[in-house]
Amino acid sequence: MSALVVENLVAGYGDARVLHGVDLTVGEGEICAILGPNGAGKTTLLRALSGVIRTRGKVRLDGTDLAGRSADAIARLGVAHVPEGRGTFMPLTVEDNLRLGAFVRRGKAAIEEDLERIHTYFPVLKTRLKQAAGSLSGGEQQMLAIGRALMLRPRLLLLDEPSLGLAPLVTRELFRIVRAINEEERTTVVVVEQNAHLALGIAQQAHVLETGRIVLSGTAQQIRDDEQVAQSYLGYR
Ligand code: ATP
Repeated sequence: MSALVVENLVAGYGDARVLHGVDLTVGEGEICAILGPNGAGKTTLLRALSGVIRTRGKVRLDGTDLAGRSADAIARLGVAHVPEGRGTFMPLTVEDNLRLGAFVRRGKAAIEEDLERIHTYFPVLKTRLKQAAGSLSGGEQQMLAIGRALMLRPRLLLLDEPSLGLAPLVTRELFRIVRAINEEERTTVVVVEQNAHLALGIAQQAHVLETGRIVLSGTAQQIRDDEQVAQSYLGYR
């Protein structure tokens, strides 16, 4: 069964249409990479999926219709969005940021358990719990943003450019952790990423978005082997 089914998704800002009928499906527990040039609409696609902007078309998660619902309602249905720039509350402590991630949940014991689990993925956060989020390094802030998203216990995790501004070593570690989360929690992941090598390294399938349309879809291997993708996004051939 597909976890996420998107059909003829249209979205934009005011009168400016950015997505012109996007179709994609992501299988339950899979990682799907969205590649594409600047301005293609990748961020807009994630915003449309999480309800940050209004959309037309069909978006279904495990059979439940998300289209037209508010961002808050979509979060309650298990969609966690880690935006580009991370959306961390800098003056708040690491712990408060993590707890904010559980804003739609009840059940104190389960929340405490999840905090512990997140520390196993991101041990560095445990040592920084009482620090202001703004004092963390870029990599730690990205970890915090993903940790906060996990506090929602998401069924679908949307990651926008997680590697942005991070050193290669930090980025590789971050992607390793995303893969571990996906495997251990069975969380379905949609990741928008400029670093196509990294994204295709953890994804099962990928789509290339250009000027608001999906122009190429396939397994990560098929996309990696595509001549055009290799030239445009992987920097060889
Ligand atoms: P990038 O990698 O540069 O972030 P992207 O593929 O994520 O690119 P989007 O950020 O989705 O692309 O932008 C797609 C188009 O929508 C661009 O033409 C952009 O100028 C426009 N756009 C993005 N955000 C807004 C906004 N808040 N208001 C109006 N137009 C916007």
